[in-house]
Amino acid sequence: MKVRCWGARGSIPVSGREYVRYGGDTACLEIQSRGGAVLILDAGTGIRALGVDLARRGCADMTLLFSHFHWDHIQGLPFFKPLYSPATRLALGGRRGARRDVPRMLARTFHPPLFPVPFAKLPAQLTAAGFENDVLRVDSLVIRRTALSHPNLGAGFRIEEDGASLVYLTDNELSLRHKGGGTFEDYVAFCRGADLLIHDAEYTPEEYPQRRGWGHSHFADAAHLARAADVRTLGLFHHNQERDDDALDALLGRCRDLLAEPGDPCCVALSQGWETELAGPGAGGRATACGT
Ligand SMILES: [Zn+2]
Ligand SMILES: [Zn+2]
Repeated sequence: MKVRCWGARGSIPVSGREYVRYGGDTACLEIQSRGGAVLILDAGTGIRALGVDLARRGCADMTLLFSHFHWDHIQGLPFFKPLYSPATRLALGGRRGARRDVPRMLARTFHPPLFPVPFAKLPAQLTAAGFENDVLRVDSLVIRRTALSHPNLGAGFRIEEDGASLVYLTDNELSLRHKGGGTFEDYVAFCRGADLLIHDAEYTPEEYPQRRGWGHSHFADAAHLARAADVRTLGLFHHNQERDDDALDALLGRCRDLLAEPGDPCCVALSQGWETELAGPGAGGRATACGT
């Protein structure tokens, strides 16, 4: 599967010369199956540019899964070009109960006077992504979901294809169990052996105590999870809006210092435009995603 990051920021988009290397758009990832099926994770402001690219590629079938409905994960959706084409077939999903929740939540934001086009009048063909027992299949991708530890609930996803695996856990507070969320051990089990774990690393350990309960992790907790679950690559995600490029470099350096034991995961900080291809053990070995 191919993985591309279209937005790695959390909370609010940022711009300015101090943010050009990691980018300023909020959460959006694109996963492509080996057959070219498109799975999108979250609709932060990064989904705008993805929509332009999908239209250019002539892609009409896609699945979009929301981790949750906080603004930074839905804010780009009104400007997602494929929504305005009747040829688009878009399956929408998220946490348990999303079959009912997704249209209800989106109808609240696509609604005058917040936005001029009502959700029910969007030209695209919208359907519900059909999870069965927390498992969804999109072409050759098998997607499993788990509950996030985050205010107002949410879902994390594990995506597998031909033995390769990606876990996406953003807005997940590892040091505090929110209502409906899992324990640290639950997340270790969910991430076990993943090739790439993309995890919330919004804070430094020094910042965290003042923000405990806000639903996010510090990078040392993300590193601890990656090591405990024996993942190959840890991708730091949901970058704080105050953390400019140089500060993110410094945070990444500290995380790499923590993961310096033999056999530890390698570590990257996701940036807008970052991409990698994950291949299973039968496809010529399992390289880490840090060199890409
Ligand atoms: Zn967020
Ligand atoms: Zn959130």
